[in-house]
Amino acid sequence: MENTILVTRSSMPKLDEYVNEISSMWDSHWLTNMGPKHKELQAELCEYLGVENIDLLTNGHMALELTLQAMNLQGEVITTPFTFASTTHAIVRNGLTPVFCDIDPETYCMDASRIEKLITDQTCAVMPVHVYGNVCNIEEIERIAHKYELKIIYDAAHAFGETYKGRGIGSFGDASCFSFHATKVFNSIEGGAVCFKDKQLGAKLYELKNFGIHGPEEVSAVGANAKMNEFCAAMGLCNLRHVEEEIENRCKVVKHYCSRLSDADGIRLTAVNTEVKSNYAYFPVVFEEKLFGASRAEVFDRLARNGIGARKYFYPLTNTFKCFHKKYDVTKTPIALHISQRVLTLPLYGDLALEDVDRICDIILSCKY
Ligand SMILES: *Cc1c(COP(=O)(O)O)cnc(C)c1O
Repeated sequence: MENTILVTRSSMPKLDEYVNEISSMWDSHWLTNMGPKHKELQAELCEYLGVENIDLLTNGHMALELTLQAMNLQGEVITTPFTFASTTHAIVRNGLTPVFCDIDPETYCMDASRIEKLITDQTCAVMPVHVYGNVCNIEEIERIAHKYELKIIYDAAHAFGETYKGRGIGSFGDASCFSFHATKVFNSIEGGAVCFKDKQLGAKLYELKNFGIHGPEEVSAVGANAKMNEFCAAMGLCNLRHVEEEIENRCKVVKHYCSRLSDADGIRLTAVNTEVKSNYAYFPVVFEEKLFGASRAEVFDRLARNGIGARKYFYPLTNTFKCFHKKYDVTKTPIALHISQRVLTLPLYGDLALEDVDRICDIILSCKY
C-alpha cells in the first residue's frame, strides 16, 4: 500500500560505512568466535553504557536465559506478565517458576510495593522489566532484594542508552540484559548483552555462551552456543556511531505526538520521569474507551485501513499464553490485564516524518465519538 507506515523501521548505517567496517574480514577470514569486531564493540559499549562488565551474545533472549542459568538458581522468580514472551520464557526454560507481580499503572513496570507479598521461602530472584524504557522503582527493588537475599536481573531490552540519576541503566542489579534486535533503538541485526557486577558470573556466562569450553582441552559446563558473530558486531559498531542522533530524532517524534495527543480525553500517555535520560524507545497510548469514545480495537483497525501499523504491545499478557495451559491466574494481575487490553504503541523511529505523525494523530483523533 502507498504511504504504509510500519510500527518501527530498523536503523541502518550508510551501506558504504558497513562495507568499510566489514572489509577487514575479507583479509582475516575471522567471522565469529570473539574476533576483533566483537572485542571492539564490547569495549565501546562498556563506555557508552557506563558499565564495568559486559558480554555480547547472539540475542537478548539468550542474554536473559543464560544469565539465569549462570546464577544456578532454583525456585521462584518474581516477574511481570506485561512484557515480551522472552522474559517469562527465560524463567520457565530454566526450570524456574515465574510468580507474576502486577504493574504500576503509571510506568507499566512491576509495582515494587507488591513484591514483598509474593515472596515465599522458594523465591530466589526478581526479574523486572524497564517497560518501554520507563525505569523500574530501582531503589525499592534493591531494598527488597537485599533484605531477602534475592538476585536482581533486569530485562533492559527497552532501555538501551538510558541513565537513571546519571548512572547507566545497565549498571543496576546483579545483571541487566539488553537486546540489540533489529527493532530496538540500537541494533546489531540480532544481538544482546549482559552487564554484570560479579566477574565470576561473567566467567560462567562466557562458558555458557561457548559450549562450556574452558580451554583447548577442557569442557567444564554443559553450555549452549550464543556467541555474537563478527557481521553483527560490525553492524553494532556502525549503529553505535549514530545512536545519539537516532535518539534525538526519536525525541522530536515523541514530542510531536505528545503535542497532538496529550489534551485528548480518554488517551493516556506515559508521564515523564525527570530522573531518567530517555531513549524514546516506544510511544505507548492507552485508550480508555468510555472517555475516548472508541476502543483500542477500533483505533487499531482504522489505522490499519490507512496503512499504519500500530502494535498491541504487550498483548496478550505472558501469564495468559496458550503454551502455559492456564497455569497462571491472570486475575492476580488486574492492572496489567487492564493496560494490555487498551494499549497501542504507535509508529516510532528516528526518520519518521512529523507530517506522518500528524497523519497518524489525525486518524486517531477522528475515532473520537
Ligand atoms: C526484544 C525483547 C527481548 C528479547 O530480545 P531478542 O534480542 O529479540 O532475543 C526480551 N525482552 C524484551 C522486553 C524485549 O522487548
